[in-house]
Amino acid sequence: MDNQNFLLKYRECFGCSTELVNDSYGCFDCNIFFHKKCVELPIKISHPYHRKHQLILESDFCFCNLCQVSHSGLFYRCSICNLDFHSECLPPSVIKDKKHHEHPFTLLLRPNSFTCDACDTQGDNVSYICSTCNIQVHKDCISLPRFIRLTLHRHPLSRNFFLSIHFHDSRTWDCRICYKKINMEHGSYCCSRPNCEFVIHVKCAISRENKFWYDTTELENPDEFKELDESGNLIFRVLRETKVGDNVVAAEIIHSSHDQHSLTFNDEINDNKHCNGCMMPISSSFYYCSCCDFFLHKACAELPRRTLLWFPQSSFRLLTDGIFKCWLCDYDCSGFSYKTANGLVVCLRCATTPHNFTYQAKEPHYLFYDAENVSNCSACGRRRDRKGSYICKDCNFVLNSGCVTLPKTARHNFDEHPLKLVYEDNNDYPLHHWCDICEKERDSKFWFYHCKVCDNAMHPKCVLGEYPFIKLGSKYKYKGHPHPLSFIQKIDYHPLCEKCREPCQDLSLECEEHGCNFVGHWKCLRVFSGVYSYHH
Ligand SMILES: [Zn+2]
Ligand SMILES: [Zn+2]
Ligand SMILES: [Zn+2]
Ligand SMILES: [Zn+2]
Ligand SMILES: [Zn+2]
Ligand SMILES: [Zn+2]
Ligand SMILES: [Zn+2]
Ligand SMILES: [Zn+2]
Repeated sequence: MDNQNFLLKYRECFGCSTELVNDSYGCFDCNIFFHKKCVELPIKISHPYHRKHQLILESDFCFCNLCQVSHSGLFYRCSICNLDFHSECLPPSVIKDKKHHEHPFTLLLRPNSFTCDACDTQGDNVSYICSTCNIQVHKDCISLPRFIRLTLHRHPLSRNFFLSIHFHDSRTWDCRICYKKINMEHGSYCCSRPNCEFVIHVKCAISRENKFWYDTTELENPDEFKELDESGNLIFRVLRETKVGDNVVAAEIIHSSHDQHSLTFNDEINDNKHCNGCMMPISSSFYYCSCCDFFLHKACAELPRRTLLWFPQSSFRLLTDGIFKCWLCDYDCSGFSYKTANGLVVCLRCATTPHNFTYQAKEPHYLFYDAENVSNCSACGRRRDRKGSYICKDCNFVLNSGCVTLPKTARHNFDEHPLKLVYEDNNDYPLHHWCDICEKERDSKFWFYHCKVCDNAMHPKCVLGEYPFIKLGSKYKYKGHPHPLSFIQKIDYHPLCEKCREPCQDLSLECEEHGCNFVGHWKCLRVFSGVYSYHH
């Protein structure tokens, strides 16, 4: 008998046809190998699955009466009843797995179904019971991790066979992944931090379909869990402070996204201007540059350099310049973005939209991100080619990632007043609704922008344009041209695009180099990848 682990790699056990690991036996001359556990299988067994007769170990080709598949290798045969059971398929009568449960589990065979106390789903015939804890579980559920880290939640979660006392008040609990009820009498993963109240179904934690969005990792013990430290992680320096009410705020800062000038704090709303971070109208306190057309929401200026988002990635880094396509909302954007080590980029609007929150439309809706959802969006009526939308946990209201971040107010040259996002057209007269910009029909079921003073109603697409989140003047490095280009939108005259020779009426790029008259449509010069250009 040989025991050369190195040479055993990539070979299979003759007994159970799975990969060999340490502790194997074999003969290189005959090219036959076994796991230690397979070599040590008893020749004769009495198994509760077939009590009438003893089962004899044989090696050949068999059709397993348990898993209904043909196997070659070791199996147990009852020659009287002509039944074969692959050795791996016969459930062991006792399973001891101290790492996952302190007591041993005993096999219980019953010709009927049961509800697993660990995962709250049905099982058939074969179950395991722990008589100390009075629980009945699937074989696979014995080895469920006790503690997991879930990307969606910032604390470790622990497995429970029934919800612990601090969840036992009169309320019912929803799973924070699928927003369906948690059965208090069965297993779940929950956060044990006080007041955290975060619970998920075991089936949602381990489902393969959820793996991409809600990645879980087993923790040996919850103390190994490290929270991401976001302090000392800011990208601005305070020059001067001031008092606003009871709070001290930074009155003047140097922000690394615009370090040539200092930025000054302002408390007024100026929805004519857009934030250079998130590209949304300035609707709350902000910083501005007194020399340049540069604005940042206070909240956007204070974003950490490294952070965790609810997305399935471990860490995101803040980038403050570049032109990119947001992975979630699909918009081409300039401004700040969060990027992972493997190149996934999201805009600030998407990055700061949580996994679940209350959205105030005409009525409030409690939304959560459902990666499987393919319904039509309640705002625009469109269905996304990619899966996933924000859906209401109580009704059939659905928003795709593009519409969930639509600005509540917007401006357009067509109307001198600020335009308000409206969720429903209750005006039954006239029978047909029109967009005052494109003069085409408007479906009254869907959202639109409205000016109360002029009673103008407009498609969101017509108000915002095709590229609402690219700021004019942003720089772009185009591979096909030696000089830096910047975004423009010509109003008075329309030079011809170098690519398609059509006039540049919509968003375009123009060369900054004196004497070089290169111009081209953005739609002609853009390339179809996540990140178009980063300056650093
Ligand atoms: Zn084996
Ligand atoms: Zn028999
Ligand atoms: Zn189970
Ligand atoms: Zn669930
Ligand atoms: Zn902003
Ligand atoms: Zn986005
Ligand atoms: Zn329109
Ligand atoms: Zn040029």
